[in-house]
Amino acid sequence: MLNKNIFTLINDQINHEFYSSYLYLSMAAHFEAANLPGFANWMRVQSEEEAEHAMKFYEYVFDRGEKVALKAIDQPPSEWASPLDLFEHVLLHEQKVTSLINTIYAAALKESDYPTQVMLHWFINEQVEEERNATEIVDQLKMIEAKGTAVLMLDHQLGKRGRD
Ligand code: MG
Repeated sequence: MLNKNIFTLINDQINHEFYSSYLYLSMAAHFEAANLPGFANWMRVQSEEEAEHAMKFYEYVFDRGEKVALKAIDQPPSEWASPLDLFEHVLLHEQKVTSLINTIYAAALKESDYPTQVMLHWFINEQVEEERNATEIVDQLKMIEAKGTAVLMLDHQLGKRGRD
């Protein structure tokens, strides 16, 4: 059995992770339409990973003897002014997700819920990686500014991202 507050936080986190997946798929669509297939590839992989994060929480709820209650997923934005504007959005979003994960962890500490703490260690490490990746791309886009050829080079690089 999960503590009621922790159950609610984890159940909500499933929704946040599916929203992340949906947001990144919307970003992929934005890049497909802009004929930047490398950026679109990066976003598709990112979107798939977020759906997997949702499913990790989903499975954990059942492992603890509770039932998931799925909620509606918000509509993500679909337009961004530039690749830099978009990746700044990614970074802000990941920082928000980190704070959500930290909130669940703090609740698990308070309730002495050791299994939830252990389960969250993976996510805490993952968020360090997510913020680092987003920061790296934001910084590279700042160096590039609006130089078209450099954007194409970064598109080529991001097109190489596969599944881990
Ligand atoms: Mg995630």
